[in-house]
Amino acid sequence: MFDCAIIGTGPAGLSAALNLKLHNKSFVWFGSKTMSDKVRRSEQIANYPGAALVSGEELHSSFVRQAQQMELTITDKMVSQIMDGKDGYTLLADNEIFDARTIIFATGVVTSRTIPGEEALLGRGVSYCATCDGFLYRDKTIGVVCYASRFEHEIQYLAQLAQKVYLFPYYKDCGVSGDNICVLRQKIERIQGEQRLTSLTLGDGTRLPLDGLFCMRDAIAPSTLLHGIGMEAGQIVVDRTMATNLAGCFAAGDCTGGPYQIAKAVGEGNVAAHSVIAYLAAGQ
Ligand SMILES: Cc1cc2nc3c(=O)[nH]c(=O)nc-3n(C[C@H](O)[C@H](O)[C@H](O)COP(=O)(O)OP(=O)(O)OC[C@H]3O[C@@H](n4cnc5c(N)ncnc54)[C@H](O)[C@@H]3O)c2cc1C
Repeated sequence: MFDCAIIGTGPAGLSAALNLKLHNKSFVWFGSKTMSDKVRRSEQIANYPGAALVSGEELHSSFVRQAQQMELTITDKMVSQIMDGKDGYTLLADNEIFDARTIIFATGVVTSRTIPGEEALLGRGVSYCATCDGFLYRDKTIGVVCYASRFEHEIQYLAQLAQKVYLFPYYKDCGVSGDNICVLRQKIERIQGEQRLTSLTLGDGTRLPLDGLFCMRDAIAPSTLLHGIGMEAGQIVVDRTMATNLAGCFAAGDCTGGPYQIAKAVGEGNVAAHSVIAYLAAGQ
């Protein structure tokens, strides 16, 4: 069992990881090898102390370099579910199970809203994980809502299994194609079904019958990942130690609310790591 699981490789997650590493704690760090698209895409950053008028690309490269120099390992997996246990937490990430005494949410802000009906039918036709659930849809008709190009390989994987894939790319320059892939540039208004998902209602009012729907997002709402976590207006509620309402569960960065700034994310990541260290030392 790890001392901690950090979810997110942006500035908040990096700051937490650096501090846990310096304190010799064991941890698994989930996110993406590209760390934070938000930082990378910033044109120019003028308010981060020590980096005068740096471009997002430059600051991002410096974060990557620092992670490498400190020998931090990124587990390039999406956490899709967290279970609260007696001695800590169990995390499901791309079909693999990880156990940790504590967790730090550093997941950034969730910009895309869930689709009406999505949360009610999660696990009953709606899935966030192609690797975990793809095999359930062999020779079936599925939909894939994709919010970023980094998931394109997962769409190709699903297309190898399913008979037909309706793809809804919610980003520019989607490069996915295939004999059984039909790209629909429409909004999904609602997901329907009683016991299980049965169909979608599209923006023009048409109904599309489906066996399953995969939602590929860079971030999943914390309350969907971990039931019972205290949230207010879509943000994780924390105290000054970055503790949430759940024992051993901390949060840092944009996911705790504004101002949405790198300096705030880095500071909160630092505090969260020190709170984890204090929590472990107290043997709670
Ligand atoms: C265009 C733009 C310009 C900006 N300019 C500035 C600026 O000039 N100055 C400034 O201070 N700030 C700026 N910001 C804001 C700044 O980028 C953010 O405040 C900062 O990146 C927040 O850091 P974070 O670590 O909280 O989250 P993020 O950087 O959003 O990182 C979150 C990470 O968590 C990962 N993640 C989420 N969910 C999961 C999951 N379930 N499993 C695994 N990984 C997951 C994501 O993939 C991502 O890598 C800008 C933002 C944008 C978009």
